[in-house]
Amino acid sequence: MHLSDHDLLQLDEERLMRLESGTLRTLAVKLMADLKQAREQLNRTPQNSSLPPGSQAPWKKRAAEDDEQSDVDDIVDRKEDASGNKESGDPDKADESVPTPPTASPSGEEVAAKRQAGKQTGTPGFGRTQVLPITGTIVHSPPRCNLCDAALAAAEGKLCGGHYVIDVVWGQANAPGISVSYMLHHHEEKRCDNCDHLTRYTPYDARATEFCDQVISEWRLVGPGLAALIVCLALRFRLSRKRIAEFLFDWLAIELSVGTIHQTIAESSALLAPAEEMLVNEIVQSKLLHADETPWKEGRTCLWLWVFTSLTTTLYFVGDRSKKIFFDLLGAGFTGWLMSDGYLVYRDYKQRLRCWAHLIRKARGIAESLDAKAQSFGKEALRLLTLMQDAVYAAREGPPGLSLTSELSAELEQLKTACQCARDVLQHHKTGRALAVEFLNDWDAIFRVLDHPAMPLTNNTAERTLRHWVILRKICLGTRTAEGSKLFALAASVIDTCRQRGCSPWRYLESAIASRRNGMDLPPLPTANCGV
Ligand SMILES: [Zn+2]
Repeated sequence: MHLSDHDLLQLDEERLMRLESGTLRTLAVKLMADLKQAREQLNRTPQNSSLPPGSQAPWKKRAAEDDEQSDVDDIVDRKEDASGNKESGDPDKADESVPTPPTASPSGEEVAAKRQAGKQTGTPGFGRTQVLPITGTIVHSPPRCNLCDAALAAAEGKLCGGHYVIDVVWGQANAPGISVSYMLHHHEEKRCDNCDHLTRYTPYDARATEFCDQVISEWRLVGPGLAALIVCLALRFRLSRKRIAEFLFDWLAIELSVGTIHQTIAESSALLAPAEEMLVNEIVQSKLLHADETPWKEGRTCLWLWVFTSLTTTLYFVGDRSKKIFFDLLGAGFTGWLMSDGYLVYRDYKQRLRCWAHLIRKARGIAESLDAKAQSFGKEALRLLTLMQDAVYAAREGPPGLSLTSELSAELEQLKTACQCARDVLQHHKTGRALAVEFLNDWDAIFRVLDHPAMPLTNNTAERTLRHWVILRKICLGTRTAEGSKLFALAASVIDTCRQRGCSPWRYLESAIASRRNGMDLPPLPTANCGV
């Protein structure tokens, strides 16, 4: 770079106008070289530089992947051309007569690209060969005759089937830690003394919800405690299915396939489906709600992971970034305060607060700008915002119900004037002008907090909540299907809500799995500070 930040700060339109043509030409050459270099830097992508893949916006990734594929096709085409030309010996004759020899690689690549994940059609299956060290037996008998409804307690039972359950058991005070149990569940059949009908014990088996194919069944190898541990490893500790299998084998000597682990996570999430309504009801009734969204990939579709979090409840869902989603969820029922960033979807909601952290960050960026006018606007906005922020903090210490609007009317007026001025003057400084316009368009929401200093100034709560799942997204690259997204959002909502209420999500999940697998309703979500 020829010109430093210090040099650029001294240059503006008026200065250029006053320069002689010779000096101007010399300067133009330097500026052009700098611009070319800056453009090259801007145009760097993970495809043409050493930038990490995560630095690219998700909506650009799709295009980049398609480009990469066409690059591969180009190379294949060129190879075909080259081999064709070589045989003909004359480049001009290549496309006339000599047929290009078929190459094996493109068809091979095509097959590889179309290959679905998981077991392939026609691959021989295999079952468990491991011999389980049984630690106990539980006998299940039919309680009543299926025909005449007479009690069967007195009748003699005969073994007719069974299943194994591997589970982890929580230690008691005198023996802390977890131990592994391998239980053999015997199923019995009993003959009725009354009507001579033979009734068999049948384990519970039912479809979880309408939206997915998951079946909740008592007949599972993985017990409720172990299932909760697997969900914890996957969603809280962000381990892949393969790593979970490795962990269970290395530390607990439990041998489970990746497929069984995946199935356990899906079933455990699906049986939480009734919790969604409970969560939505509590969110709608909350007094203050933080909302935010982050990009989420579902297969090759770019969607958004939304979060709505109140003091005691968190609700996630995966969907597109439209107004409909927002208003469908909150409907007419929500009347509390909504804290959000400046995204347009939220703007129709009247009782709204704006996150100041974004504005202060933007003002700071503009204050460091190389354009002198933008810089002075940025500094002024930053100064006034910081001053008002301190006033809000101070008011929180004072008596409740204090309004700062009249006290800070002079500062508000100064900021408004600065914004109006910047909107008209900063025609060439995009970000500076954008911030001024943002202030003016969303003025009421931004400064509503001055009337209610007890309300939050930032949307950190929602952003912090999303952060964990953003890291998970970077590891697992999102979900594959709509069903997977729904199950993921459900489990994430229940886990975070339990944690907010000071209760163990895993104990709740364990009891939920045990209840639902026995055909009972989902237990109510723990109340705040239940102490479990
Ligand atoms: Zn009977």
